[in-house]
Amino acid sequence: MTRVEWVTISCDVCGSADHRLLFVKEGFRHVRCETCGMVFVNPRLAGHLDFQASSGTGSMGDDSLSPPQRQRLRKELSSMEPFRRLNRIMEVGAGRGWFLLEASRAGWETWAVEINSSALDYLRKIPVNNLVVEPAEEFHAPAASVDVVRMWDVIEHLESPRRAVAHIHRVLRPGGLLRLATTNFASLSRKVNGPEWVYLNGSDHIFLFEPDTIRKLLADAGFWDVKIRTRSFNLRRKLYHPEHEPALRWSLWRPFRKLIDETIRLTSFGHQMIVTAVKPE
Ligand SMILES: [Zn+2]
Repeated sequence: MTRVEWVTISCDVCGSADHRLLFVKEGFRHVRCETCGMVFVNPRLAGHLDFQASSGTGSMGDDSLSPPQRQRLRKELSSMEPFRRLNRIMEVGAGRGWFLLEASRAGWETWAVEINSSALDYLRKIPVNNLVVEPAEEFHAPAASVDVVRMWDVIEHLESPRRAVAHIHRVLRPGGLLRLATTNFASLSRKVNGPEWVYLNGSDHIFLFEPDTIRKLLADAGFWDVKIRTRSFNLRRKLYHPEHEPALRWSLWRPFRKLIDETIRLTSFGHQMIVTAVKPE
């Protein structure tokens, strides 16, 4: 049997070693930093990065995109147009490359940073101009060279969000845009589900941000104009024995889900945080 090794860490956001236990899920201790409030898995598995490279959920993404999904990516790209000066766009944790494929169709020079082996198989099949096979925390790319960096559902997987954001700040040109998404630990669905919240998966999701902590991380890295919005209410649960979960009556739930989704996007309690930040000129 393989021996499981653990690494105890300090808070990645503020460096403090003081934290208190919130709960244990599937053997993973989830703690909150006493100094800045960051929630993270501590200790974490020693082989976390290797796991992200070989499996994890790093390669997850849809096999194909529906027309509305493609439309959403195009809409997101058009919101980035005001930042296009050098004509370079980068995705950190590019997954299957759906976003970069659309970006390349829109005429951008594309950069992908990715370590997950199955994601790389996909990325090698699409017209990515520069494929950087290095972790987000230590990738190499010229300073001040890109207009926009996108990082979607990635930061919660990293060994050090702080180092990744510092690298992104370095590669962005002055005035460049970072746009990221991550789960919201302060969301209504997390409060309702407690430790059974579906996104609490200690082998994969080791940093659980909230609006206050992502704002601090980005401000400390030198970003300004940090804007946060949240969306969606996901009631799905994940238990240690998912086969024992009672099935939810989805057909009855669906109309309410739509209504709640529409309402929650007006608040800061949606389960997905979409964050933009700008590198000062
Ligand atoms: Zn902290």
